[in-house]
Amino acid sequence: MSKVLIIGAGGVGRVVAHKCAQASDVFTGITLASRTESKCKAIAAEIEFPVKTARVDADNVPELVALLKQEKPQLVINVALPYQDLTIMDACLEVGVDYLDTANYEPLDTAKFEYSWQWAYQDRFRDKGLMALLGSGFDPGVTNVFTALAAKKYLDEIHELDIIDANAGSHGQPFATNFNPEINIREVTAPCRHWENGDWVETSALSTKRSFDFPDGIGPMNIYRMYHEEMESLVKHIPTIKKAQFWMTFSDNYLKHLEVLQNVGMTRIDEVEFQGMKIVPLQFLKAVLPDPGSLGPLTKGKTCIGVIARGIKDGKKKQVYIYNICDHEECYREVNSQAISYTTGVPAAVGGIMMLTGKWHRPGVWNMEQFDPEPFLERLSTMGLPHVVVEGEWPEL
Ligand code: NDP
Repeated sequence: MSKVLIIGAGGVGRVVAHKCAQASDVFTGITLASRTESKCKAIAAEIEFPVKTARVDADNVPELVALLKQEKPQLVINVALPYQDLTIMDACLEVGVDYLDTANYEPLDTAKFEYSWQWAYQDRFRDKGLMALLGSGFDPGVTNVFTALAAKKYLDEIHELDIIDANAGSHGQPFATNFNPEINIREVTAPCRHWENGDWVETSALSTKRSFDFPDGIGPMNIYRMYHEEMESLVKHIPTIKKAQFWMTFSDNYLKHLEVLQNVGMTRIDEVEFQGMKIVPLQFLKAVLPDPGSLGPLTKGKTCIGVIARGIKDGKKKQVYIYNICDHEECYREVNSQAISYTTGVPAAVGGIMMLTGKWHRPGVWNMEQFDPEPFLERLSTMGLPHVVVEGEWPEL
């Protein structure tokens, strides 16, 4: 019996629930809990496999503990927001349940992305014989596993790593984000950091631009360097990496809107006085922007997310590009969701399968690259996200 509790009924939670239900060889019971139970019920109604629903405030440890004691899951998949990571980990420790998430903890009042808070749980999870798997989405997540595959099969040493995330799709809206707008805008407007010669180098947000020629008919697109959390664990666990950069595509239209919103103060995350009450401008902006969940039926085109690893094999220089292509409309047909939520939710379900089947199970707190990449990628391919490996040469970014 492998019972899973999924927390968070947003875009990603919908995909996780669908994909766990498809994997009934592993998941024999599914409960979906979130702040607004009606959203859980709407998702459960789309799925043939019985999905129980519950209401929970994941900021509240006693509420979480009571739910865990009632549902008795073997695993919690946390796809609420990064602010809830630590409270959910605390509840898992108290009750004795394994934990998985897709984004590292962030304090509400600072856009600060680092693993220190969650890595600090290592001894407590290990001592209780429990496992926490961090960052089992696409990026972080599959990008870490692609890097582990490059290190295992294609290179003796990785020296340089470029993680490249393209959304070549379009939703036809003047401005909208593909996942939670608050989390997305905090990430994109944060100062850029990349790893070079043993240290982090900081530059201003989105100030470094290149063009990259994407495969599968997507063609050249502008990519912008930004900080992304998987670089922190990858340079720690694969210390031969001398340089690591993360790149993402943004349309000129998205950047124009973002610049205006920033200039007028709408992306601020501190409180301001408004008509006698305190509001956080970015949270207000989220309330007026399109709900990412509503973009599913509108979004057309593909995503291409992958890594270029450069290093040496048998004493010679070598490069390998490992990537996935995902089609927004195909995702919507399968699980009522666009590819951004799909590419996050499928790896979360697969990470859960790795833990529950014992293929990846070790007490403690771990990142994805610390396990054998091959069983994960095999299951990921059969569950909708195959990958392509190309050996060749790509221009320095
Ligand atoms: P959404 O905003 O669509 O969904 C978040 C859900 O969490 C909502 O249903 C929300 O409830 C619920 N929630 C928020 N706060 C609480 C709380 N205190 N208690 C209980 N439930 C709560 O976000 P997404 O689905 O787009 O993203 C989910 C997660 O996935 C995020 O952490 C995001 O950073 C991560 N992510 C990771 C990616 C990766 O590749 N690794 C890529 C994309 C996203 P309500 O509906 O009531 O607001």
